[in-house]
Amino acid sequence: MAQLSDDCFAFGGALLPIEEAMRIIAANIGPVASTETVTLADADGRVLAGDIVAPIDLPPYANSAVDGYAVRSADLRDRTVLPVEGRAAAGDPAGVALRAGTARRIFTGAILPEGADTVFMQEDVRLDEAGRVHLPPGLRRGANTRAQGEDVRAGATALPDGRRLRPQDVALAASLGLRDLTARRPIRLALFSTGDEVVDPGTPLAPGKLYDANRILLAALARRAGAEVTDFGILPDSAGVITGALRDATRTHDLVMTSGGVSAGDEDHVRRAIEATGHLVFWRLAIKPGRPVAMGVIDGTPLVGLPGNPVAAFVTFAAVARPLIAALSGAAPPERIALPVRAGFSHRKKSGRREYLRVRLIRAADGELEARKHPRDGAGILSSLTETDGLAELAEPVTTVVPGDVVGYLPYAGLF
Ligand code: AMP
Ligand code: MG
Repeated sequence: MAQLSDDCFAFGGALLPIEEAMRIIAANIGPVASTETVTLADADGRVLAGDIVAPIDLPPYANSAVDGYAVRSADLRDRTVLPVEGRAAAGDPAGVALRAGTARRIFTGAILPEGADTVFMQEDVRLDEAGRVHLPPGLRRGANTRAQGEDVRAGATALPDGRRLRPQDVALAASLGLRDLTARRPIRLALFSTGDEVVDPGTPLAPGKLYDANRILLAALARRAGAEVTDFGILPDSAGVITGALRDATRTHDLVMTSGGVSAGDEDHVRRAIEATGHLVFWRLAIKPGRPVAMGVIDGTPLVGLPGNPVAAFVTFAAVARPLIAALSGAAPPERIALPVRAGFSHRKKSGRREYLRVRLIRAADGELEARKHPRDGAGILSSLTETDGLAELAEPVTTVVPGDVVGYLPYAGLF
């Protein structure tokens, strides 16, 4: 199960580029979870274990795509008039073969009779009093038909191992006749907040304290990423307590996630706790917001320590924790394609780190999509997340953005 040895990483740099962190995760983390059978009704959001190979052709038989008249294209002339013989409706068994020189009344989804290769839409033809159908010229052979297996061929891979199943994936499995499928068990994630100042909502707020935003945030994000979350509450800024709690949690969980306490301050004990009982993989990422992000291993179980500032926790969850959860879950790495949009703001940044700005997309007066940066960009400004709808991703070498530049936009809806 545990695939991380305590010495499988080597990192000597000061700030680790995100690409490098992703490479470390991809190279060293594999699925930990066993597999289980789930019914299709419960399969949305689950991670497929093993390819689904199509047991049948889809569609299972050649059929009509419209209501109309099935013909043999060899019978077609400039103007064609054919007697209508027989009727084929959806769900009917295959009728007799279509006789040359005749048409058959057919409805959407009905089996295409043997010999027929083309269907005229009923709107395009005329029936005369003798019951013959008058067909216009110009219809190509095969029109308005669906070939057997044109969607998926029996024996082809319909859905790949590691697919995080979406409604359309489950629908494809259903159309292939599957009632259930094999999925990974959701990974077990242990979640902690840290900090002597952090208290649970619903309790009185004493001077110097603040309510825990990160635990509810990260629990929701982790569940959306497919993890099963155990909420372990808030740890005090105590090296001993943190060390013990993290070690205990790694014994019963596939991943431990904390927030706060990963910087270099006197009261930042998470990193030192990892070093004391396990192995630190990295703890400083070239990312803003969020520079301190610790990843470690205790007895083969990975641990990720996110920063305490809620915005930094949010961004680093997307950048690091989510790919980590995917890798442990046996899921393909989450697709993160930043869409090019026009910047409607100016910004300066340091080169050498990737920066994420909270932005809102608006339709500018000229009709173009434009990203507007939230005016308050502190890492603790939670309302800057509620008042925006995505992140503008600025690559490591970028140092300035001016209005009109193209920036990459990652909608929150695609990140989580
Ligand atoms: P730290 O990384 O522990 O130094 O925390 C950085 C900042 O984030 C501090 O201002 C903390 O008070 C704040 N913070 C830490 N944990 C939380 C939390 N769970 N909810 C809200 N704010 C937090
Ligand atoms: Mg703290």
